[in-house]
Amino acid sequence: MQPRPLRTTVIGSYPFPGWLEYASQHLEAFGQDDIAEMQDDAVVCAVHDQIDSGLDVITDGEQTRFDFNLSFYGYLDGIELESRTPRQFGPPAHDQRGKHGITDELRAPRGLGAVEEFERLKRLAPTGPTLKASIPGPYTLSGRLLPNSQYKDRYAVTEALLPFVRDELAALVAAGCTEVTVDEPSMSCYAHREDRRRFVDIFNRTVESIVGKCRLSTHLCFGNFKGHAVGLRQYAPMFPDFLEFHVDEIHVEMASREYSELAIIQQIAQKRDVAVGVIDVKSYYIETVEDIAARVHECLQHAPADRLSFAPDCGLSQTARWAAKQKLANMVAGVQRVREELGV
Ligand SMILES: [Zn+2]
Repeated sequence: MQPRPLRTTVIGSYPFPGWLEYASQHLEAFGQDDIAEMQDDAVVCAVHDQIDSGLDVITDGEQTRFDFNLSFYGYLDGIELESRTPRQFGPPAHDQRGKHGITDELRAPRGLGAVEEFERLKRLAPTGPTLKASIPGPYTLSGRLLPNSQYKDRYAVTEALLPFVRDELAALVAAGCTEVTVDEPSMSCYAHREDRRRFVDIFNRTVESIVGKCRLSTHLCFGNFKGHAVGLRQYAPMFPDFLEFHVDEIHVEMASREYSELAIIQQIAQKRDVAVGVIDVKSYYIETVEDIAARVHECLQHAPADRLSFAPDCGLSQTARWAAKQKLANMVAGVQRVREELGV
């Protein structure tokens, strides 16, 4: 059950302020202390915007993952950074993301950095909203590493990464994190063609260290690289198998798909809480308060209020900040309007 009926939440990422993007391209000009200050300042911006919108749950906006060395791959030993993406020109798409080579045994001696991110968020956020951490799962992380003779295929790489994620999740909860999202967008994108039972097994072994110790969710996404999807945008192939994920809440993106398959939330709500994406992060149409309230009512025809939460379709990192702010504010106001109507 939701901690609050018709809860408002976010997926994880938030747009970088322009100055942060500029600075991240000129990091050589900054010292260690400058960068630490910049990381704090960026999180303050993301926290401010989210607090302003009135959300029940906020994140650090993944503001500090602006550099390879600050991303999950930067924490891995045994890989070499891919220097050049295979396609340099043409419209932006997933094939322009480089893959990293594996050169040695994969190790993560310093963890994956999510605990430091959470500690920073705790230090900078005001009391009130729930602080959520999100971390990609091992199958998704494996997608940007090239298998080799030691790790023969994507599943072998996944198995090597799984304990790193599992340990990081345990450390997050030990650090006081009460709400965690494990993102496996590669599982939702490829569910139609891969072994879904195998995905469920991988997912459940990843989260076994924290099940029952925090509020745990996952986000079933179809991709958002520079605002583009990559998967077959259908939920039908995932269910009922994905109901076996050991999570409290499953998030589905509905706004960008014009609420196609909305009835699937009924099936999810019989077993799990369901977070419905009501903000299209890829469109510059700003959903109005009335739009949101109408969608909340529509969702209530399929699932009870204490099973439902509302969020953008995906992280907001690929949406301009002015639009992200307006969209979040309208989402919260629309949900609040329905709460008042229903007296919840
Ligand atoms: Zn997503």
